[in-house]
Amino acid sequence: MKSINDINFKGKKVLVRVDFNVPLDENKNITDDTRIRESVPTIKKLINDGAAVIMMAHFGRPTKGGFEEEFSLIPIIKHASELIGKDIIFSQDIFGEKSIEVCKNLKDGDVLLLENIRFYPEETKGDLAFAEKLSKLGDVYINDAFGAAHREHVSTATLAKFFPNDKYFGLLMEHEVLNLQKLMNNPTKPFTAIVGGSKVSSKIDVLKNLIPIVDNIIIGGGMTYTFLKAMGFNIGKSLCEEDKLDLAKELMEEMKKKNTKLLLPIDHLIADNFSNEANRKYTENQTIPNGWMGMDIGEKSIELFKKTILDSKTILWNGPMGVFEMSNFSKGTFSLAEFIAQSTENGAFSAVGGGDSVAAVHLSGYAEKMSYISTGGGSMLEYLEGKTLPGIKYILE
Ligand code: AMP
Repeated sequence: MKSINDINFKGKKVLVRVDFNVPLDENKNITDDTRIRESVPTIKKLINDGAAVIMMAHFGRPTKGGFEEEFSLIPIIKHASELIGKDIIFSQDIFGEKSIEVCKNLKDGDVLLLENIRFYPEETKGDLAFAEKLSKLGDVYINDAFGAAHREHVSTATLAKFFPNDKYFGLLMEHEVLNLQKLMNNPTKPFTAIVGGSKVSSKIDVLKNLIPIVDNIIIGGGMTYTFLKAMGFNIGKSLCEEDKLDLAKELMEEMKKKNTKLLLPIDHLIADNFSNEANRKYTENQTIPNGWMGMDIGEKSIELFKKTILDSKTILWNGPMGVFEMSNFSKGTFSLAEFIAQSTENGAFSAVGGGDSVAAVHLSGYAEKMSYISTGGGSMLEYLEGKTLPGIKYILE
C-alpha cells in the first residue's frame, strides 16, 4: 500500500474524507478541535503538492434529509481555515450547478469544504449512484476519517469503488492502520490487554476476540465486580450486571481453555456512595462489605498489575481501572498509565484506545510516552472486536 507521502498530487482534484465532527458549545464555539488538527497534515501535504482539495465531512446525525442548521459545518469553517493556513471555500450543496462549477474551477492549492455530507440520506445508505455522482468531482479519493472508519457510508467507504487505482489512506488513517496491524497481526509476546471501564456488556466482543491472541488479560474498573460476583465473592453495592454473570463465567472458562492468564483486582478502594467526597477505605482482599462499592483497584492490585505490565512486550489498554474522573479514585488508572509508560521506555509497544482510556491517559500526564494512542473510539473498539472496518477494507481491496 503506497503512502500519500510517496506521491505528488500536483494538478489533481483530491476528494478527502475528513473527520470534523467536533463538539460545539451552545454558542457554536468549538470546545475540542483535536479532530480538525489531526486532519491538517494530510490537507497541508496536498496543498503543498499543488493539488485542489475537496473536503467531505459529516457533522452530528441529521435525519430529515436536506439542510438543518443545527448540523451545518458553517461554524467549523473559520477555525479550520486558521489551522490549515488557507481560506476554505465553502459549498452549501454538492450537486447544484453552482457548486459543480466551483469544483471545476478550483485552482491548484485551493481547499473546498462541502456542507455536511449527511444532509444527503444516500450517504449513510452507501448508495452507489450517489457515490458515482460524487466521484465525478475529483480524480483521487483519500480517506482520513478514522473516527468514521467503522461506518459503511458513501464518503467513508463506497466512494473508493470509483477510484480503483487512485484511493489512499490519509496520513492519520495510515498511522492508525499501521499501528493496529502491528498490535493485532504480529504482536511481540508477552502481550497483555488491560480492559476496564464500566460494563462487561460493552466489552464482551473485545474480550472474546482478545482471549486467543493475548497472554494476559488484566480486568479493572466497574466490570470487575460482575466477574467477582460470578466467582462467588460478595461485592456490596458495586456496579454489577446481573444478567451477565453467566457470560462472565463463560469468558473465564474460555481464558482457562486458551491458557490466557486472567488478572482481577485482589483488593479495592471502596466508598459508601458514588461521590468523590464519600467515605472511603481499602479492602484487605477481593470481598467488598455490604453498603460499600468498589471505586478503584487497591494498592496490592496496583503492585500485582505493575509486575505483569513491566514484563510485557505488547500492551493494549482499553478502559479505566476506576472512577478516574473523581480525584480520590484515579490512583489505580494513573498508576497503570505510569507503568505502561515505563514498560514502553523499556521497549514494549503500547496502544491505548477506545474511549475513556484516551481521556485518562491524557489526564495522567503520560500520553506522550505511549507508542500509539488511537483517535477513533468506536472504530478502535470494532477493530479490537476483530471486525473489518469498511473505511480500511475499501481502500485496501
Ligand atoms: P467505558 O466507557 O465502558 O470504558 O467506561 C468508562 C467509565 O467507567 C468511566 O466513566 C469510569 O468512571 C467508569 N468506571 C470505572 N470504574 C468504575 C467503577 N468501579 N464503578 C463505576 N464506574 C466505573
